[in-house]
Amino acid sequence: MADRAKIVVIGGGVAGLEVATGLGREGSAETVLADRSLSHVWKPMLHTFAAGTARPDRQKVGFFAQAKRTGFRFQPGTLVAVDRAARTVSLVVEDAESHPPVELAYDLLILAIGSRANDFGTPGVAEHCFTIDDLTEAEGFHGTLRRHLLRALQAQEGLSIAIVGGGATGVELAAELKHAIDLLARYGSPDLPRRLRLFLIESGPRLLPAFPERVSAAAARTLAELGVEVRTGAMVTGADPAGFSLKDGGRVEAALKVWAAGVKAPEVLSTIDGLERGRTGGLVVGPDLRTTRDPAILALGDCASQTDPGSGRPVPATAQAAHQQAQHLVPALRRNLAAGDLAGPLPAFRYRERGAIVSLADFNGWGTLGRYTFGGGRLNGLSARLAHDLLYRQHQLGLFGPGLALATWAADGLDQAVSPPVRLD
Ligand SMILES: Cc1cc2nc3c(=O)[nH]c(=O)nc-3n(C[C@H](O)[C@H](O)[C@H](O)COP(=O)(O)OP(=O)(O)OC[C@H]3O[C@@H](n4cnc5c(N)ncnc54)[C@H](O)[C@@H]3O)c2cc1C
Repeated sequence: MADRAKIVVIGGGVAGLEVATGLGREGSAETVLADRSLSHVWKPMLHTFAAGTARPDRQKVGFFAQAKRTGFRFQPGTLVAVDRAARTVSLVVEDAESHPPVELAYDLLILAIGSRANDFGTPGVAEHCFTIDDLTEAEGFHGTLRRHLLRALQAQEGLSIAIVGGGATGVELAAELKHAIDLLARYGSPDLPRRLRLFLIESGPRLLPAFPERVSAAAARTLAELGVEVRTGAMVTGADPAGFSLKDGGRVEAALKVWAAGVKAPEVLSTIDGLERGRTGGLVVGPDLRTTRDPAILALGDCASQTDPGSGRPVPATAQAAHQQAQHLVPALRRNLAAGDLAGPLPAFRYRERGAIVSLADFNGWGTLGRYTFGGGRLNGLSARLAHDLLYRQHQLGLFGPGLALATWAADGLDQAVSPPVRLD
């Protein structure tokens, strides 16, 4: 029997895990997924894990179990190098530093390693701010938040938190933190919300620049009503242990500081010789998702820089785009595999704008669909929150298939019913 084609997928996030699962089920290629973590979580939920309003253990998908279930092989490890000439990747396995890197050979390499917050070189941010780019960071923030909250609860102290970045991530995190504090106040400390100062700092003139002005204004109003101190037009020039310095000479004092502004591609991509990179460091890919200078390497999701051939605009760095790219690629690769031509042409990917959603915990939410905007207010906000949830449920359906997905949703419902709405453990 001829050797099976080797497809290596690096990064088991929204895009990578969907691709590995789809190819694993097909079975005609030898598909290996590598990730620096042992489990997948849906990145758009990270702010809820950070605030403590959702529990990650129920939402994690273990890579080894998913691999066994769907027919790919999982290799733990962090990508440290790609040798394009030899068609191999090198991975460093955590807790095995004394061992040499693991090398994997590929016929086709699919890079889907996501993105990180971009501090634009602002002094002090790396040392003093949290970023919430993966589960470890979300858990790290939650651990520190928990210590501060316990002090606030026990010693009747105040607590100040500042978030930089008024995009959807910063806005959603601010609302989620406020929601968590309100819930915790029910545990015998009704004045806790009054001792919290929560700042949201944005350098641009308005929050949520990707949304219509009406939504930006309504979100700013909702946050102000919740007691969040929103500073727009405020450029952060530095971070230190006590807070942020602003360009206009002002200060925002905060014990807990989160940087949620901008995105950039992981550094390791810059070490791959000869590939074209975009403005934020992502690999430039053509309409077929192949990198422009090496057809044996594809890039998907946040780490890819792609111009949508339909609109001529950049494909956004969102879970929605990552999911669509994965759903486009799997059947196309399956067709090529069936034809015995892995290197054969791939159809052009067209991004379908399904609208943007922003959800302010239980307080409010909005969605846009073309020129149509929906949501606004507690009741209508629910429609936006449900739409927010829908993309995650579609992702789970793709990973688990209908039976297991239904069981998972039922288990989530039961878990929500029996668990406290906020965790302080
Ligand atoms: C708090 C928050 C809220 C968000 N909300 C939304 C939303 O509401 N809607 C929306 O559409 N988008 C949202 N996003 C953006 C969305 O999460 C990303 O666009 C999406 O996750 C990108 O998918 P991806 O597959 O490219 O990367 P990811 O899902 O980030 O996955 C990357 C994977 O690569 C792995 N990895 C990284 N580096 C390496 C390495 N060197 N070696 C091996 N493995 C590696 C990681 O462990 C991870 O598993 C949000 C993001 C955040 C942070």
